[in-house]
Amino acid sequence: MEIKVAIDEWLDHYEVNKRAAPDRRAAYGGNCPESKASAMSRPIPVPTAETRRFWQAGFRGELVLPHCPHCSRYFFPPPPRCPVCLSSRLQWERVSGYGRLRSWTDVYLDAISGLSAPFTIAEVELSEQKDIVLVALVRAAAVTDLSIDQDVQVVFGDDVDGCRFPEVIPAGTNPGVGPIAANDTVAGGNL
Ligand SMILES: [Zn+2]
Repeated sequence: MEIKVAIDEWLDHYEVNKRAAPDRRAAYGGNCPESKASAMSRPIPVPTAETRRFWQAGFRGELVLPHCPHCSRYFFPPPPRCPVCLSSRLQWERVSGYGRLRSWTDVYLDAISGLSAPFTIAEVELSEQKDIVLVALVRAAAVTDLSIDQDVQVVFGDDVDGCRFPEVIPAGTNPGVGPIAANDTVAGGNL
């Protein structure tokens, strides 16, 4: 029962559309190869006005979050406006992806099409702001080496039908991902 709840929360978290609409790729700006989605494909998120820049940046391997310049706070999932001061002038900023492993769940059921069990879902508290928690799969190679409060990094995995999903790895273990200067405003990233 607890596993079922965790999976549902994870799916909701990324606004996954289990029906995998065939024209969803247009929402990514046409920068992705043709879809090979099938009935057994992994569910792909359908970007909304609030989440599109997150997925577009993720496809480039960059983790970005909406930031309110008035409140100096990040928010996730992306809101339509600042939930604190109600400003509509949120800006997307690139963050490091580094954080603390808050918890994880091992899933032994083939509950998600296109994703073979077992797999592990983790909660990562980002270093830029402790109340920002991302939920993502743990990269398979890292699953056997997890501990609470471990330093980890959120990176992006391989192209899955035009989408790259966030993945959790131990900090400093991905030679292709160097430290990223936080607070880099994404070009043209204003909402
Ligand atoms: Zn604000």
